[in-house]
Amino acid sequence: MHQNNNQRVSTAAGAAGDAIVIVGAGIIGLDVALVLAERGLGPFITVIAEHLPGDTSANYTSPWAGCNFSGISGTDANAIKWDRLGYAHLTKLASEQGDEAYIRRTDSIEYWDEHVPHDKIKAISEYLEDFKEIPSQELPPGVRFGISFTTLTLNAPKHIEYLFRRLKDQYGVHFIRHRFPTIQAAYASPTTKVVINCTGVAAKTLPGVEDAKCYPTRGQVVLVKAPRVKRNIMRHGRDYETYVIPRPGTDGHVILGGYMQKGVNDISTYSYETESIVSRCLKLCPELQPFDVIASFAGLRPSREGGARIEREEIVVDGKKKVLVHNYGAGGTGYQAGYGMALEAVGTVDDVLQELERAGRRSRL
Ligand SMILES: Cc1cc2nc3c(=O)[nH]c(=O)nc-3n(C[C@H](O)[C@H](O)[C@H](O)COP(=O)(O)OP(=O)(O)OC[C@H]3O[C@@H](n4cnc5c(N)ncnc54)[C@H](O)[C@@H]3O)c2cc1C
Repeated sequence: MHQNNNQRVSTAAGAAGDAIVIVGAGIIGLDVALVLAERGLGPFITVIAEHLPGDTSANYTSPWAGCNFSGISGTDANAIKWDRLGYAHLTKLASEQGDEAYIRRTDSIEYWDEHVPHDKIKAISEYLEDFKEIPSQELPPGVRFGISFTTLTLNAPKHIEYLFRRLKDQYGVHFIRHRFPTIQAAYASPTTKVVINCTGVAAKTLPGVEDAKCYPTRGQVVLVKAPRVKRNIMRHGRDYETYVIPRPGTDGHVILGGYMQKGVNDISTYSYETESIVSRCLKLCPELQPFDVIASFAGLRPSREGGARIEREEIVVDGKKKVLVHNYGAGGTGYQAGYGMALEAVGTVDDVLQELERAGRRSRL
């Protein structure tokens, strides 16, 4: 049921439970909730979002992801740092709760047709398990550089449903379905100390945020049944992106991709794109045969010039100073970098959180 005014939102959340409001229940908002809950703050958190795990919408990117950990991310220091933290987190989760969390350690090969910056390769080679450079004589024609390593593959829609259940059942996090007209509206409750803005593509248009650096990057993928595919394989070209990702927790389902269409806002799927994806993937991965196409999907990656925005801001709402943390713009790496981004976002409000932790201890005395 949709809740359409802020009064009802604050009443439903309850006093202590809305001290921390996370706006957005994609992988970015859920990872922030997880980092906070692991710190013991679960009962202080309310996640408020128009779309929740289990939903599908053009404005909800997370269910459409491939999904894996790859070398697709940027070469800047932030991307490298968030990836490293994300890889450690996902590896741990795969070994402790892989089946429940729909994450699996998977052999992976990645090829690049273009030059890859040496610094980036050096950085990832330090933490990716089983990392090896593929000798040049073993590279397919047209490929300039290749690596093999152990990656993490995720079943994206199932993984966010797992986080949703775990946050509610294990940590007591509260979830409310509601669409805010402005970011300021998230401070409806007087007991809210901090709002964390994890609104993905909506950050471009949401009043109070309206970040002109944000833009969508469209991707189309094809879901197939191909039981012989056991490894992840990707080829990054100058103007194409081709990948084959086995999907954990399914009966031989595999995601084939894809596209990276900067600035394209269209979630229709096109048969000629499906044909192009299938033909590129067959060349890359012979063990794709035999396969049956199940469906095609398209999603919009929440991209941002200069990379994701993780920033604390003080804003004035109804004449009072309020703390707002932005965490959006994950582009094509929300699953692999999301936990690292969450650690950084949470770190910006450590002072506020310590106060809540003290209040929590006092109430237990
Ligand atoms: C085809 C494709 C393949 C991908 N593959 C990978 C991959 O292999 N690995 C990887 O790491 N990443 C991948 N990604 C990228 C990844 O999916 C995104 O980075 C990630 O899903 C972004 O998550 P998010 O939480 O920022 O946004 P979203 O999932 O869109 O969540 C935004 C949330 O904000 C809420 N919201 C927005 N506005 C409001 C409002 N006004 N009021 C209330 N709630 C609001 C929405 O309802 C939603 O809950 C892929 C993406 C696509 C499209």
